[in-house]
Amino acid sequence: MHEWGLVETLLRRAEEKASEHGATAVRRLTVSIGELAGVEPDLFEAAWLEFRAGTLCANAALEVRSVVAEWECPDCKAIVAAGGALRCAACRKPLRLRAGGEILLERMELEVP
Ligand SMILES: [Zn+2]
Repeated sequence: MHEWGLVETLLRRAEEKASEHGATAVRRLTVSIGELAGVEPDLFEAAWLEFRAGTLCANAALEVRSVVAEWECPDCKAIVAAGGALRCAACRKPLRLRAGGEILLERMELEVP
């Protein structure tokens, strides 16, 4: 499942960052998930609970923020919300996805001895 791989990557990155800072545990993780990232929140949560066991995140709280998709014109930088036309109204250029397509590890609270 897609979510499984995402959580594994997320945990790996969290553990790397935690050990960079000499942390013994991660207290809280804040993750933003774009609405176009194709993530099912229930599956994501289930994968998280399954995979965090035995890692530095074993007791970490997970906070998920959903990010609304936004598109941008490469020329005039106009921002267009999802659901509209995929071309800029002014320049007729195809829009670029600016936010909402990815998963980001935004913040971590670490336990450092
Ligand atoms: Zn434009």
